[in-house]
Amino acid sequence: MSFQALVVRKADDRITQSFETLDDNLLPPGEVTVDVEYSTVNYKDGLCLTGQGGLVRQYPHVPGIDLAGRVVASESAAFQPGDRVILTGWRVGEVRWGGYATRTRADAAQLVHLPAAMTTRQAMAIGTAGLTAMLAIMALEAQGLAPGQGEVLVTGASGGVGSVAVALLDALGYPVAAVTGRPEHGDYLRRLGAKTLIDRSELAETVKRPLEGERWAGCVDAVGGAMLARVLGQMKYGASVAAVGLAGGATLPATVIPFLLRGVNLLGIDSVLQPLDRRRAAWSRLAETLPMALLESMIEEVALADVVPVGEAILKGGVKGRTVVRVA
Ligand code: NDP
Repeated sequence: MSFQALVVRKADDRITQSFETLDDNLLPPGEVTVDVEYSTVNYKDGLCLTGQGGLVRQYPHVPGIDLAGRVVASESAAFQPGDRVILTGWRVGEVRWGGYATRTRADAAQLVHLPAAMTTRQAMAIGTAGLTAMLAIMALEAQGLAPGQGEVLVTGASGGVGSVAVALLDALGYPVAAVTGRPEHGDYLRRLGAKTLIDRSELAETVKRPLEGERWAGCVDAVGGAMLARVLGQMKYGASVAAVGLAGGATLPATVIPFLLRGVNLLGIDSVLQPLDRRRAAWSRLAETLPMALLESMIEEVALADVVPVGEAILKGGVKGRTVVRVA
């Protein structure tokens, strides 16, 4: 038996990617064998595809941090052949071979059953980016965010996390302000539900005053860096920011004044090692909340063989919304 995979190799510090047929005895270990139907391209996939960020330690490597497909064999009572499953995070696609392959194996404790109303394609249109957006909103809600408190800010809005966050927040009844550096995607963001568009340049400057006018009831931040620092000083009293990403930088040139004088909360969001019960809860809320027609409007679909240029583009902030990778 054999399967096909996008294999990344490193020789003489040079990274190459090729589409190869591999023997089943090379499949990663795990109790559940899955025929992959769809995968996706997240920011992290861009890093793994191009050998950046130090995430992949061993080559040859099969990237793809997300996958959805059909169980074909299982040593776990929790999964039967024919079940549709989702696998995201757990460092799959980084330290283990991932979803850019027609077949893989996974640990039963890492798999989530596909929600009844969702297809594997829709699950991968959501992917780690969308799951993380949902986890961020759940964290903001747990901290007291509710509709009627004011505008909720989403940074990096036309990217993957941002697009899903805008659509989810609007569907949940929050007025959304979307920060983008690509005004050409303004109509797209308005269709997803953004009521206010903010140019990235407005929040690009480093903090000059630790407190600005109180403006945001909550924030899903995919950008980090100077933008996150500015946003902290603009939060309403007692409001929270969910820190998700670092598309604009990993440093935080901020002061502690917003925490001390306005009771602002900075909530860290990690999707990779998120416990299984929280994942199940997030997937089930995504299935009930995210309008699938809007999700469809975020999608660009590519074949597995065409994934490398998308990985290169996402690292330059050049991908809009979500990319679905057709594997089967
Ligand atoms: P995308 O590339 O799809 O989106 C990032 C967006 O950020 C871009 O589309 C762009 O939006 C904006 N952006 C890009 N560069 C800059 C910049 N220099 N300054 C300000 N804004 C910028 O990536 P994802 O949505 O997949 O991921 C977003 C971030 O979240 C990444 O850093 C990723 O690593 C992180 N992440 C973290 C997870 C976790 O578990 N914590 C899980 C998933 C992602 P626009 O053009 O609209 O301004």
